[in-house]
Amino acid sequence: MEPSSSITFASSSSYLSNGSSPCSVALPPPGPPQAPPLTAGEGWGSGGAAGGSGSSVEAVSLNRLSKNLEQLLLDRDLDCSDADVEVPDGGPPVAVHRCILAARSAFFYDLFAARGRGGAARGDVAAAAAGGTGEGAASGRPRYKMEELVPGGRVGREAFQAFLGYLYTGKLRPAPLDVVSCADPVCPHDSCPPAIRFAVEIMYAAWTFKIPELISLYQRRLLNFVDKTLVEDVIPILQVASHSELTQVLDKCIQRIARSDLDDISLDKELSPEVVEKIKQIRKNSQTADDDASISDPVHEKRVRRIHRALDSDDVELVKLLLNESEITLDDANALHYAASYCDSKVVSELLDLGLANLNLKNSRGYTALHLAAMRREPAIIMCLLNKGATVSQLTADGRSAIGICRRLTRAKDYNTKMEQGQESNKDRLCIDILEREMMRNPMSVEDAVTSPLLADDLHMKLLYLENRGEVHTMLDKMVLIGFPLKNFSKLEGPRWEQI
Ligand SMILES: [Zn+2]
Repeated sequence: MEPSSSITFASSSSYLSNGSSPCSVALPPPGPPQAPPLTAGEGWGSGGAAGGSGSSVEAVSLNRLSKNLEQLLLDRDLDCSDADVEVPDGGPPVAVHRCILAARSAFFYDLFAARGRGGAARGDVAAAAAGGTGEGAASGRPRYKMEELVPGGRVGREAFQAFLGYLYTGKLRPAPLDVVSCADPVCPHDSCPPAIRFAVEIMYAAWTFKIPELISLYQRRLLNFVDKTLVEDVIPILQVASHSELTQVLDKCIQRIARSDLDDISLDKELSPEVVEKIKQIRKNSQTADDDASISDPVHEKRVRRIHRALDSDDVELVKLLLNESEITLDDANALHYAASYCDSKVVSELLDLGLANLNLKNSRGYTALHLAAMRREPAIIMCLLNKGATVSQLTADGRSAIGICRRLTRAKDYNTKMEQGQESNKDRLCIDILEREMMRNPMSVEDAVTSPLLADDLHMKLLYLENRGEVHTMLDKMVLIGFPLKNFSKLEGPRWEQI
């Protein structure tokens, strides 16, 4: 699908500025039933119903219509919704009105029409019995799963709510600031990962649900991010561009990554083979004779890849065998970096138990294994590395710490969410807390092996908050596996933990 050329944008200023982004849309909606187009000037912001001096009766009437429909989303006293969409955050489903979705989106029109004909529609839990609670089937109220509506992409709660707001009103409200800003107090938040993530999710929704004006708007926003952000943060933009056939964005992402130092292993892990091939070709074409001379030994490369494949299979015994039969070391293969990025915490722990890896080694891009674990925001792996003596204060080549990395990746909303509410994102907050406590405990730590009894005590309090969640058991299981001191955790739940 090509974005419509009939859309006009009054301004390209950032939506991150909390309401300063006017956008006028003069495009008929794509769904089969046609509604009158919005008039220029009716778009953004909180403009009053009366409008300016030149406003027509039609404009006033459309503005009122928009506000009336918005009440359907906001009014908690009157619920006349007739379907639910489950979003993958464990929270309650999002209630929707099928008549509005069908009127505004050709995708939803087809989805509901297929269900009306008795077909098992895509993502329809009640019809397809594809999971969920079955509540929809019992009440006659259909329930859809977002991951089935948008296969291959993720649309979170806030992005879906913003998308619905646009569908209902024709106006795109500014995203909540704590959703599009990170937990780093010194970040300008103009291109940090939460802002990118939100735009990417809206793009998945706009593309899948066929809303061309949103595709066009967010294509511009994604393009703006590509040059401003870190290369790691370009990857989700590239993925949505590839998924949604946004050629211009895709080309720009490919060029940016080709010019970066992102290594082949990361490329192979994160991107499709076609995209990787294009990036490698660009790099090859731009190589000088000097670069050719520095190409690494293919035998060495093969040995490194064998070790990585053994780690992919969670087979640390095989890693030992490979080390014994060749000259290569764990550090030569950046095995700990690889495991911190892509393996389970159990594998990281077993690898560390070999006692053969330098915990604070930096890879060719200047990252330690702890930096990479921070990027992944996996508490068990972070704790595993700290417990074995990784230095929390080490900086990347561009001066970032593991804490800074974690803070930039974490949404302010998630950082500020109280632990009791049991949100998925508490894991992000836990990572920051683990790293900060370690930093306070040992701000200038050197490469001594340390154990962290104080860290364990602090974390005990955090884990008590998480007690009611299934995830805490998984996390404790991992902590036991990595040998973290857990003597106090028997208080959490009787017999299960008394054996620790
Ligand atoms: Zn930020």
